[in-house]
Amino acid sequence: MKIAICASEVVPFAKTGGLADVTGALPLSLEALKQEVNIIMPKYKAIQEPKFKINRFKEDISYSVVSKGIKVYFIENEAYFNREGLYGDKSGDYKDNLDRFSYYCKRSLELLKEINFKADIIHIHDWQATLIPIYLKTLYKDKPFYKNIRTVLTIHNIGYQGLFPKEQYPKLGLDWSYFNMEMLEFYNQINLLKGGMVFSDLINTVSPTYSKEIQTKEFGYGLEGVLNKRKNSVFGILNGLDYSIWNPETDKLIAKTYSAEKIKDKNENKKDLQKICKLPEDSRVPLFGIVSRLAEQKGFDILALAIDKICRMDLELVILGTGDMKYHLILEDMVKKYPKVISLHLKFDDVLAHKIYAGSDIFLMPSKYEPCGLGQLISLKYGTLPLVFKTGGLADTVTKDNGFIFDNYSQEDLIKTIQKAIKAFQNKDKWLKTQSSAMQCDFSWEESAQKYIDLYERAKKA
Ligand code: ADP
Repeated sequence: MKIAICASEVVPFAKTGGLADVTGALPLSLEALKQEVNIIMPKYKAIQEPKFKINRFKEDISYSVVSKGIKVYFIENEAYFNREGLYGDKSGDYKDNLDRFSYYCKRSLELLKEINFKADIIHIHDWQATLIPIYLKTLYKDKPFYKNIRTVLTIHNIGYQGLFPKEQYPKLGLDWSYFNMEMLEFYNQINLLKGGMVFSDLINTVSPTYSKEIQTKEFGYGLEGVLNKRKNSVFGILNGLDYSIWNPETDKLIAKTYSAEKIKDKNENKKDLQKICKLPEDSRVPLFGIVSRLAEQKGFDILALAIDKICRMDLELVILGTGDMKYHLILEDMVKKYPKVISLHLKFDDVLAHKIYAGSDIFLMPSKYEPCGLGQLISLKYGTLPLVFKTGGLADTVTKDNGFIFDNYSQEDLIKTIQKAIKAFQNKDKWLKTQSSAMQCDFSWEESAQKYIDLYERAKKA
């Protein structure tokens, strides 16, 4: 099958979150399963770095080759994409995001024709790419080249919908007849994710549980009705993890590599992390790690309520992340109050992330909702037991046998579960057994990639 993957971020070229991990890893497994894959993404400023081998295709299009023969095409536009941020800067989202991503979508469709890649499937990701199926079924519907192309939309987080003021609608180049409640309109605004959900041939999301949750009022962010109408076309495929990047046996970014058999060597990583973080180097104190966006979705509302009590427990806590200013401030206060307990790193830092996954004993991820979550999958592989709220992909991957899970979203239950984990940490034999079953979990991409191929086949018949 010929598959075009269209996404606004792809590892290793640009990443703000799990979306990039998925669009970076899935194509490699699809290629291994004999599929023909091309990727199309915008060319941000960071992609000009010499570490990427970039070739020129034409004036406004360059490309890089990954794995055996996957071409990653970059759409260039000085005004739209040559910026530090992907979607915004310190003052918020870029004001011209609708212009930027509608340009990206249209240019991607044109590019397919220019490279004569008659895709069976265009697999689009999140709102930034949803104008592709919309344009295909409107502006491009009578163009012969695009006739049999089918589209699959993967929703990585339904909380981000691409909402824009109605006044910007003419920029899309679409007839006003599509601006109605059944299509692109959402409470008098443009909603690009909604449009994508209506116009794609199939919809999927990144875990089976989340695919059901988003069809409810609690998790649907107002789009549950749209999904209900298409419920026979909604699927959930769990993300895999790229074990060539995330593997304690081969990880070059950590102090000492280790395996389940050589779990003692994990301690060297704990020591290293404690040292970097200027925390007391005591192996008997359980070390909790967090690598996350600092957002309510990631559980920071209950964490903020509980943090003072948590810091008074017998533990150490390392936090790496950026996000809402209010959480930056709360956590900075805690560092002043408990400098020997909490170490805070308000930045995006891939190397430190690896060190936290390897050096911590417990990975804290109490997300309020979690489409799939990669943090818990990574920490399982590193024998760092995840402590999670039972939701979405966390519910699909963490159990009592490989971590800690609570099912009532409150600061009280979070605190109780942390206490439980601290107690469990004292029972070394049981801890080792749990670590060993965590490290044996296999969330590699092969199985999920095969499920995607089955989904593409289904879309071809849609
Ligand atoms: P999200 O909702 O943010 O996409 P995921 O758990 O699906 O959450 O994926 C987050 C990815 O981003 C993981 O690979 C995680 O390690 C990484 N990550 C998050 N915050 C940071 C940070 N501050 N520094 C380095 N890596 C980070």
